[in-house]
Amino acid sequence: MSVAFRISCCLCRKNIPLTGDVFALDAEWQRRFPAMVGTLACRSCAMGTTWRCTSRDGSFVDGHIPVADGPCFDAWNHVSSPGTHRGMVQGHPRSGLIQGAGAYLRSVAARKDTVPEYAAMLRTVIQEWDEQHNSSGAPQSVTV
Ligand SMILES: [Zn+2]
Ligand SMILES: [Zn+2]
Repeated sequence: MSVAFRISCCLCRKNIPLTGDVFALDAEWQRRFPAMVGTLACRSCAMGTTWRCTSRDGSFVDGHIPVADGPCFDAWNHVSSPGTHRGMVQGHPRSGLIQGAGAYLRSVAARKDTVPEYAAMLRTVIQEWDEQHNSSGAPQSVTV
């Protein structure tokens, strides 16, 4: 049994088509677009938003956060390869929780055929999420 879910794009907030690819954006995108909700984006936002990592003189713009692996020049270097809805929320569970895949991720964490190490990691992420969102009135703890 699997739980159906929709993800709303972190930038345009529209539901990403179920047949469409999902792209993960990195920390540099979050720095540039602080209003982003999660990090999973639809194709048109991931591929249609452009910026450059460097300024006119060729040096990186102030505050630039480099990609983890290899050189970067522009927005595309900071976009992951496309993935399926399930694959991407499992790979980015924090974003999955924020963007609409909470019930699905909970079902994966509870499933017997889920790899135990992965299920344990997922339960930790879900628990942190619950603690941050169920404590009414209490100040939110910031995880660094
Ligand atoms: Zn979008
Ligand atoms: Zn860059």
